[in-house]
Amino acid sequence: MITPDRIVPTTCPYCGVGCNLELHVKDDYIYRVTSPFDSVVNHGNLCVKGRFGYDFIYHKNRVTAPLIRKTPQVPGQRTQAFDLSEWREVSWDEALDATADRLVEIYRQDGPQAMAVYCCAKATNEDNYLLQKMYRALFRTNNVDHCTRLCHAGSVVALQQAIGSSAMSNTAAEVVESDVFIVTGSNTTENHPIIALQMKAAVEKYGAKMIVVDPRRMELCDFAALWLPLKPGTNVPVFTAMAHVIIKEGLVNRQFIDGRTEGYDEFARSVEKFTPEYAEMVSGVDRELIVQAARMYATAERGAIFWGMGISQLSHGTASALSLINLAFLTGHIGRAGTGLNPLRGQNNVQGASDMGAMPFHYPGYMAVDDPGNAAQWEAAWNIEPGGLSQKRGLTTTEILTNVRPGGVRALYIMGENPMMSEPNLNLTRHHMQQLEFLVAQDLFINESGAFADIFLPAVSWAEKDGTFTNTDRRVQLVRPAIAPRGMARPDWQILCDLALRIEARLGRPRSAGWDYRHPSEILQEVGGVAPEYRGVTYERIDKVGLQVPVWDDQHPGTPQLFTESFPRGRGKFHALEYTPIVEPPDNEYPFILTTGRVLEHWHGGTMTRHSRLDDLYPEARLEMNPADASLAGIHDGQAVRVSSRRGTIVLRLTVTEKISAGVVFIPFHFAEAAANLLTIDALDAQAKIPEFKACAVQIEPASVEELARPEAQLSRGRY
Ligand code: SF4
Repeated sequence: MITPDRIVPTTCPYCGVGCNLELHVKDDYIYRVTSPFDSVVNHGNLCVKGRFGYDFIYHKNRVTAPLIRKTPQVPGQRTQAFDLSEWREVSWDEALDATADRLVEIYRQDGPQAMAVYCCAKATNEDNYLLQKMYRALFRTNNVDHCTRLCHAGSVVALQQAIGSSAMSNTAAEVVESDVFIVTGSNTTENHPIIALQMKAAVEKYGAKMIVVDPRRMELCDFAALWLPLKPGTNVPVFTAMAHVIIKEGLVNRQFIDGRTEGYDEFARSVEKFTPEYAEMVSGVDRELIVQAARMYATAERGAIFWGMGISQLSHGTASALSLINLAFLTGHIGRAGTGLNPLRGQNNVQGASDMGAMPFHYPGYMAVDDPGNAAQWEAAWNIEPGGLSQKRGLTTTEILTNVRPGGVRALYIMGENPMMSEPNLNLTRHHMQQLEFLVAQDLFINESGAFADIFLPAVSWAEKDGTFTNTDRRVQLVRPAIAPRGMARPDWQILCDLALRIEARLGRPRSAGWDYRHPSEILQEVGGVAPEYRGVTYERIDKVGLQVPVWDDQHPGTPQLFTESFPRGRGKFHALEYTPIVEPPDNEYPFILTTGRVLEHWHGGTMTRHSRLDDLYPEARLEMNPADASLAGIHDGQAVRVSSRRGTIVLRLTVTEKISAGVVFIPFHFAEAAANLLTIDALDAQAKIPEFKACAVQIEPASVEELARPEAQLSRGRY
């Protein structure tokens, strides 16, 4: 039995649930992870990632010294360098000086529009705040974004339009107080496992009814009262048909509609054509199931909706999320315990990175960049001359890359993200990355994007630094250092402060924006000085239990439920919607709809989990296909298949499963050797600019095992 030198409480670095961890450390080595049974978030439960997925910290490929590429890179001919022999180890001074020199040179030559940055939903609030501050305060650009654009941008825009606030309205664990809840576009068991446990408890212990609306027959369906297997991209007709039934059968909450909303009459007229029969025709869902779901949700005392990226990752992702919001307004299922509109945020700190202004349209606190009053407040906070901040809305993640060209974006800074895995249409992304004049990567490993960089800055993991994460239900929690930084790696916030000082000096700015923080707690204090929702959050107050923002002052207890009395925009706004089909429907040449997503053992672009023993548990991408389709195609379980879209081709093994509906296939997007995003389409939602990851047309043919990039990697354990 090992006796730990210390047990360090902290927060999980993977998904948005934000489970509380205890890192057991002996001789500066983490050898075990547990969780306190009294944790308000996870009650001692952890999934496989939180429990065992910390070993990436010690992986041999981790970069622990600053690196500069040996071969100077030329726009248009930029290459990837994964091997350390292609890089030169340098001192921090040399790396930061070279970075500052080149960034300032390009800024002077091409101006603010040439500068762009990817912040990081895995990094802390403090890291994200500083990086967006660096680009806004020093380079006067709002070309600042992160992967929220790729997951819930549609939900964020819809919630802002209808409510004026874009976070989860309720606390996830409140699901046990719901009578009925809808789960849609979310494989919660694999993506938010601890919330899935709470959902199952709600059904089994507390008698709630669960309605699953999803093209895949996921594990949660075993617990559901109803499963509506819709075709990808048909959310609007299905949920609007539910609204049609609720209105037609007089199940609306008239008091709530009259007292709290606007636009009902126009909305009610707009849903007349969305009959269950029409919805069945376009979605494939039996009309009776739509009617039953509508009655079940509308007649509940407390009804909640939880959704994932099956709602938002569409070229009409905003409309898709609005169709859910309309349902909550019709029934008054919002503003009380066990109700609410709950977009399940993906990464550990995607909510926090968004709160911190790591987006092109908002300063921290969702203060619009094109509002002069907001700009003036941040100019004062950052000691910038009046009118100094750009009030021009910036480019989104995908737009940053598509604008890489002379006269457009020339220099890109990537902190912890991996667009070469997470963007759609990766062959095009590769082309854009190659055109960059200068690329900096700040990360733990040289991933598919960092391999294109000129300079690599080694950051520490979450277990080596202080900071805060804000989880999916808005709870700000502490991250604490358990071990010393590996090698020369440094916390992101320290790297950014040292770099910002160098940039500021080279720009000759007469006044410093302030980069002399002694501890991340001072950074969070600066955030709360302007962003009102964080005003009452201090490290002292969240030492034991996190606080749910908004926390309006240092006495405020936090906000488990939003919108109890009113909405930030005043009245909730109904939206009349039209059904817009997916951009690339199947046809004779490409007869299947591909939908993409995650698996339990892996995380996003795989930078962490593919450097972990988790990769042994799930070592290869698999194509999921319905038995009827496999039989027609003459292919069998375990066989290698070639999947092609109009944009690319990958080869991977097949899993034949009833879990997926006929005509639809699924591929997880974590695996570089069979990258699903080589296939996906880069069509964007016009408002949210989120790509249509959830639907594109593909063809499938038999392939040989020799065509697999890693034939030796074979998934041996069964799935749900
Ligand atoms: S459910 Fe999410 S937060 Fe909890 S242990 Fe798993 S990955 Fe970590």
